[in-house]
Amino acid sequence: MKINSNYLNLKDSYLFSLIAKKVNEYRELYPQKDIIRLGIGDVTLPLVPVVVDAMHRAVSEMGNAETFRGYGEEQGYAFLRQAVCNYYAKKGVMTDINEVFISDGAKSDLGNILDIFDTDNRVIIPDPVYPVYVDTNIMAGREIIFINGSKHNGFLPLPNENLDGDIVYICSPNNPTGAVYTSEQLKIWVDWALVRKAVILFDSAYEAFIQDDSLPTSIFQIPGARSCAIEFCSLSKTAGFTGTRCGYTVVPFDLERNNASLNKLWLRRQTTKFNGVPYIVQRGAEAVFTELGLTICCIAAISWVLRE
Ligand SMILES: *Cc1c(COP(=O)(O)O)cnc(C)c1O
Repeated sequence: MKINSNYLNLKDSYLFSLIAKKVNEYRELYPQKDIIRLGIGDVTLPLVPVVVDAMHRAVSEMGNAETFRGYGEEQGYAFLRQAVCNYYAKKGVMTDINEVFISDGAKSDLGNILDIFDTDNRVIIPDPVYPVYVDTNIMAGREIIFINGSKHNGFLPLPNENLDGDIVYICSPNNPTGAVYTSEQLKIWVDWALVRKAVILFDSAYEAFIQDDSLPTSIFQIPGARSCAIEFCSLSKTAGFTGTRCGYTVVPFDLERNNASLNKLWLRRQTTKFNGVPYIVQRGAEAVFTELGLTICCIAAISWVLRE
């Protein structure tokens, strides 16, 4: 019997206690200075009323013999996948309902997607970035190539001709820096991936916070991306769902490698290993995507910023 010894290569989760220690030391030395914390955090506002009402109605349905629901489709109820498609349509992105997969959040999908890729793939990861990309690949024993975000590239690393790899993570807006790639910059990544037959894993968890209409909020706004990218998004930051749990992943039909459809592989993976998201939560998520839901989430976020 052997354990997966890749786990022994993980840096222990003392990272955040180390950050707390450093922050406290700094604060003692410089009590007057404001500290911008780029470590772990959580959302600060409650669910908006339109979401709460939708979930209340769904709870009542579950307690009624006529409207009760048992096992649902693992990839999510059609009503929510359609709501996600409509949200994409507003961005000028056409998606099929069967390209959308509902999950309990982006973190799960970002880690689980690796199931459908060989462990021999080399992975390109920006630095700094959301730590889950690194740890999930260390667990699988994949080779990681870091590309640096610094003030010299506006914290937005781009590929050069020598950059070689099979999977690349792009987080835009970036956690923790907030830097957002322009369409021109994302096109460089898409063209790079198309030439190498690499796959882009695009994390758009903060897309709802982009205020500048000229900036892309989805990789699929970039021509060619449907053949080389998977997009992960979440309601955690958009609508304060960190405790409620709901996210979505888009795997386009056009994305094929080794003559296999990645959409089909992911569907197979999810229907086998994932139980789906509770009906009640999916009704709450559906309410986020209504005109009222999106407007109220936006107003709530702005009023919070103004109050701060
Ligand atoms: C918060 C966050 C996620 C995870 O979101 P969940 O849906 O809560 O799992 C993914 N990516 C980034 C960059 C995040 O900041």
